[in-house]
Amino acid sequence: MNEVYIGLGSNLQQPEQQIRQARSVIAEQDCIVELRFSSLYSSSPMGPQDQPDYVNAVMKIATSLSAIALLRVLQGIENQQGRVRKSEQWGARTLDLDLLLFADQQIKHPDLIVPHIGLSERAFVLYPLQEIAPKDLQIPCQGALEQLIAQCALNGLEKLVS
Ligand code: AMP
Repeated sequence: MNEVYIGLGSNLQQPEQQIRQARSVIAEQDCIVELRFSSLYSSSPMGPQDQPDYVNAVMKIATSLSAIALLRVLQGIENQQGRVRKSEQWGARTLDLDLLLFADQQIKHPDLIVPHIGLSERAFVLYPLQEIAPKDLQIPCQGALEQLIAQCALNGLEKLVS
């Protein structure tokens, strides 16, 4: 089993509900065990600003799936929850599931880059990740999570009261 962190984001059609549903569906999968789940956070959109704020969270799982097999499972869940893929890079979405970290592996595959690109400068990933990760977590090739957080402004990130 590998320990894996998944980033969840939504800004359409009841985002908090979308995130909660995705958490349940992920945890119900064969070969996946939920280990931890962060608080929900609200963040300003990247890219086009004429879209609602996002709700974000990070989930820690253990899985016997390969990284690519897990990516396909996550993409299937995005599709089930009404994700419409558009050419626009940072457009609004019902559900975005990112494979942030896969054990301590670095993966460069045409469909999968791990650690996830942008992880090290995105407050909406780093802060929820810090909430559920070991204090001394190292991000492959990017250094200590604690150090990345120290260099990352909150950019309007707020923890939502549950
Ligand atoms: P997005 O629009 O942010 O959901 O990006 C989806 C695309 O990113 C898909 O084509 C994936 O194959 C690719 N991708 C590359 N690395 C990752 C990753 N670590 N997690 C999720 N998707 C990834």
